[in-house]
Amino acid sequence: MATGKCPKCEKIVPHLRLEGLDANVAFGAGGWKAITLCCPFCSTILSAAIDPIAVKADIVNAIKKKG
Ligand SMILES: [Zn+2]
Repeated sequence: MATGKCPKCEKIVPHLRLEGLDANVAFGAGGWKAITLCCPFCSTILSAAIDPIAVKADIVNAIKKKG
């Protein structure tokens, strides 16, 4: 059972809302697929990270190319 509270709206967060977006490197040097984990009530971003599923797909494709 979830007991953690959102730091903005102070409601208990029963689940996180996951959103996908691009994380760009400054000055146009490329980027990665990223995710944010948001409060489902007020949409405050509680955490952000590189998309682990996209990273996995990139690794699998790189290995396939070598084989
Ligand atoms: Zn909130």
